[in-house]
Amino acid sequence: MALLWRDPWLKPLSDGDVGSDACAFCKKGFGKVEFVTACEFCDIGVMHDQCANQHIAKGHKKELEGKVKDHRDRRLHDYQ
Ligand SMILES: [Zn+2]
Ligand SMILES: [Zn+2]
Repeated sequence: MALLWRDPWLKPLSDGDVGSDACAFCKKGFGKVEFVTACEFCDIGVMHDQCANQHIAKGHKKELEGKVKDHRDRRLHDYQ
């Protein structure tokens, strides 16, 4: 099994750290190679890339907006 982490700011976890061989969102087992990510707003666990998008879009709208805003502010700051 090879889990490829989508988000560059998330450190790849070893298999032992992942602690699960199934998606925390859809509960389906991971295949041989999967693009996975974890929710940065809660500790739900490892999810398929697609599932994480759904989970975050549904469950963390406010946090997501805050992060987008934060990102934008920081970028503006960098250029000043
Ligand atoms: Zn899934
Ligand atoms: Zn979450």
